Amino acid sequence: MRNSKNVSKYLIGKGTFSQLATLLADRQEGYHVYLIDIFFESKNLNLPKRNEDVLFFVDTAHEPTTSYINELRDQIFAKKTNLPTAIIGVGGGVTLDTAKAVSNLLTNGGQAEEYQGWDLVKKAGIYKIGIPTISGTGAEASRTCVMTNYKTGLKLGMNSEFTIYDQLILDHELTQTVPRNQYFYTGMDTYIHSFESLAGRHRHALSDAFSIQSIELSRQIFDSADMMTEENREKMMVASYLGGASLANSFVGVVHPFSAGLSVVLGTHHCIANCITMRAMEEFYPKEYKEFWKMAEKQKVTIPEGICRNLNAEQYQKLYDSTVIHQVPLKNALGENFKEILTLEKVTEVFKKM
Ligand code: NAD
Ligand code: ZN
Repeated sequence: MRNSKNVSKYLIGKGTFSQLATLLADRQEGYHVYLIDIFFESKNLNLPKRNEDVLFFVDTAHEPTTSYINELRDQIFAKKTNLPTAIIGVGGGVTLDTAKAVSNLLTNGGQAEEYQGWDLVKKAGIYKIGIPTISGTGAEASRTCVMTNYKTGLKLGMNSEFTIYDQLILDHELTQTVPRNQYFYTGMDTYIHSFESLAGRHRHALSDAFSIQSIELSRQIFDSADMMTEENREKMMVASYLGGASLANSFVGVVHPFSAGLSVVLGTHHCIANCITMRAMEEFYPKEYKEFWKMAEKQKVTIPEGICRNLNAEQYQKLYDSTVIHQVPLKNALGENFKEILTLEKVTEVFKKM
């Protein structure tokens, strides 16, 4: 059994973002690195940034790659000869994961790809503060940071206690501007990984409790008239945090491996790929399938359809390979012999339903 760790400190509530300067007050020596979601490039976030600090806008058009993380490290060292005293990540899952990975890489040396796996990070990273501006992935709370290595095709994070944020600011005022469809796609990530984990064979008493509460909050949000009211955005921040905390000791199920197949083969982003996958999940999760589509209809969101209908044999083979490679969640959901259920023919049929 793993000795579990969660985020040690967090501020929660409307307006708490303004306390960032106070959190940095005893780290005034040295410089800080800001990694900010590109959406805020034209907005005034009122960051307590000083002249000596370094700021990058994180392009969210692509999910993080190992080469992008290495490149950011090189750009920091092109400007500075010493290490920063804090890294601040402000944004969605892409930006939060980027900040986690850069923090680990700066102190551990080598290349980002050397840390893809479990417990490969040897030292604590740079002190890091995570500030989500869209909720659902749980990246703010989890012990991983998902990166793709395009040389090897591996999509895997730095799973480590050192990846967990030292401090969070959970200020739902920051999520006001999220486009409605995106709010739903990302928000649903926590609902989906929570029900996958509860339906699995591997159980953990505390993760179950986190998952149950995350699902309960998701229902309150997405079954209400407007998922984006101030109250619902605050609940969404909590649901996301709890879902992320649950991930430390739980495994996903059938949805995430299929969704990962879409991401690897067709480049579909994680959260929208989950929602597309839900089109084909009735036989695996009948109750949640019904509930998911009821909520999607209620919130009037658009979810793409038919993206896998007319692919060629080679593409279906690639989709199959990049789905069944996820053995841990598939065994969790379907048992040791999951490949007897998920044959090439079956997997192709599932993708065609999407
Ligand atoms: P994201 O970071 O891609 O952001 C989605 C979009 O919303 C982007 O266009 C972004 O610029 C925009 N955006 C963010 N905040 C906004 C705001 N306040 N107003 C307007 N627009 C805003 O999306 P995400 O869905 O949060 O994250 C997906 C990423 O998270 C993937 O890379 C996935 O692999 C990763 N992930 C990580 C974990 C983990 O535990 N570390 C878990 C699940 C997913
Ligand atoms: Zn997910």
